[in-house]
Amino acid sequence: MNLPISFEFFPPKTPEGADKLRAVRQQLYARQPVFCSVTYGAGGSTQAGTFGTVKEILAEGVDAASHFSCIGATRAGVREQLAQLKAMGVKRLVALRGDLPSGYGLGGEFQYASDLVAFIRAESGEDFHIEVAAYPEVHPQAKSPEADLKAYVTKVKAGAHSAITQYFYNSDAYFRFVDDAYKLGADVPVVPGIMPITSSTQLMRFSDACGAEIPRWIRLRLQAYGDDTASIKAFGLDVVSDLCEQLCNGGVPGLHFYTMNQSAATLELLRRLDPN
Ligand code: FAD
Repeated sequence: MNLPISFEFFPPKTPEGADKLRAVRQQLYARQPVFCSVTYGAGGSTQAGTFGTVKEILAEGVDAASHFSCIGATRAGVREQLAQLKAMGVKRLVALRGDLPSGYGLGGEFQYASDLVAFIRAESGEDFHIEVAAYPEVHPQAKSPEADLKAYVTKVKAGAHSAITQYFYNSDAYFRFVDDAYKLGADVPVVPGIMPITSSTQLMRFSDACGAEIPRWIRLRLQAYGDDTASIKAFGLDVVSDLCEQLCNGGVPGLHFYTMNQSAATLELLRRLDPN
């Protein structure tokens, strides 16, 4: 498959998790990702784990993107971390606002991801390829779909090079979002984020929190499978491989897989898209 692909991981919390992730990465590298990205806990809560995992990926000879969230951060702190990332050889960032865990005050010197993008560009010029987040089904805290689209366009115009979407299971939402954003002058590539379906409860929990819609027919089918994980996985692979096919046929610029630090479902999806 010629389509660029990328994989997303979260920083493991234990030495066993780190070992498991190393093995998962080796399996996924067989598919020659353009880069692998590592999530970042808002408020800097996973900074050491994120940077450590990024370092390992770079040492394995694969391009790595560090996610970077700014809510609660200071300019001086961000400047210091950018210098650290540059010294590590990082050339890609996923620049985010992030969500502070409850209990943290808001504050901070950055309100929105667009502030972070503008700051990174002002500080670092073209040193980093900057990805931003896109929400084809609208960010859950947006005032309105129009306001959210405008905020996305502002974020891109602040200096983003490309975008990765929140996951979705309705390709129409993605294609409409891309058309609308392009019409407003945000013409950077928008790579769809693909979430394999491997567990019903996990997917429902995530989706409620991040505002991704699970279409009613998918939700009902998953609920009907109950604890039958084999059927959930088989159904999930069919649904998500159909989605990937529609996206590829529609000319997407790449696919970004939310691996959840697992390889099996992502590898099977890629095998179905490209058996070679
Ligand atoms: P923004 O683009 O700043 O948008 C946040 C909200 O503010 C939106 O509702 C938007 O409409 C509104 N808004 C933006 N600008 C303005 C403005 N000027 N005026 C009024 N309203 C405005 N979270 C993590 O904690 N760590 C991660 O590693 C992480 N990785 C992610 C990767 C991807 C690809 C995606 C899609 C999401 C990721 N998230 C991550 C989740 C993300 O942090 C949350 O969705 C967060 O709530 C919004 O971040 P953002 O960068 O999209 O924010």
